[in-house]
Amino acid sequence: MKYLRLLIIITLFASCSKNIYQVSKNTYHKKAKQLGKSLVKIAPDTIGNRTTKVIESQNFNLRKPNIVVIHHTAQDSCMQTYKTFALERTQVSSHYVICDDGTITQMLHDLVRGWHAGNGSWGKNTDINSSSIGIELDNNGTEPFSYAQINSLTSLLEKLSTKYKIPAQNIIGHSDIAPGRKTDPSALFPWKSLAESGFGIWYDEEDLKTVTLPVDFDTTLALKYIGYNTSNIKNAIYSFKLHFNSDEVSHELSEKDKKILFLVMKEV
Ligand SMILES: [Zn+2]
Repeated sequence: MKYLRLLIIITLFASCSKNIYQVSKNTYHKKAKQLGKSLVKIAPDTIGNRTTKVIESQNFNLRKPNIVVIHHTAQDSCMQTYKTFALERTQVSSHYVICDDGTITQMLHDLVRGWHAGNGSWGKNTDINSSSIGIELDNNGTEPFSYAQINSLTSLLEKLSTKYKIPAQNIIGHSDIAPGRKTDPSALFPWKSLAESGFGIWYDEEDLKTVTLPVDFDTTLALKYIGYNTSNIKNAIYSFKLHFNSDEVSHELSEKDKKILFLVMKEV
């Protein structure tokens, strides 16, 4: 009797989670079809007091992403993340999820707008979801990122960068685009080694020993030049340090941080 009850619970749980993914898959197909349909016809619009004329051109393709935003899931397993992104009520998603063992799961087509970035900006880009691909790394935020996971991430970035011509400085973290609101990926994320593989930027560490700052060096302008939103300067500094000096994260710039900032600016 005890086993029968257990079996019923397990069967119910399995069919329930299967249902979540089936519903998500069906809705994905339906939405993709609707989007396709909405592109077929250009409806006349009213601009000022004029109605637009429509003459279709045959020369086009789909717009491509130009930014990659890296996240950590802050969850305990890939299964948990799949479920989060499959459920309608969460209203969040990402194009890719990379598990601890290096498994790469694609959950959205590269050319659709995922819901991973939220409010944020990078340089003059103010709608990051529209121009980016989101990559979620299965990580609870306090553990190191596994070798297999970073290896898979590097391979994925290689593919995406080549396919969409994504510039190195546009491979960034969630915290970079949303200072004060997001702190992922965590301070344990290996930005330096990623940049050594050609993804993201890093400064010349040899130059750090000898560089002298210009007397009129404007740190706010430098952060802005790299891409940070500086409307709250302390938050911008925190995000910058989380990325480029993660051993000494704080809301203040030390002399060393200023030098790092100056050298990072030169890499953009
Ligand atoms: Zn995130």
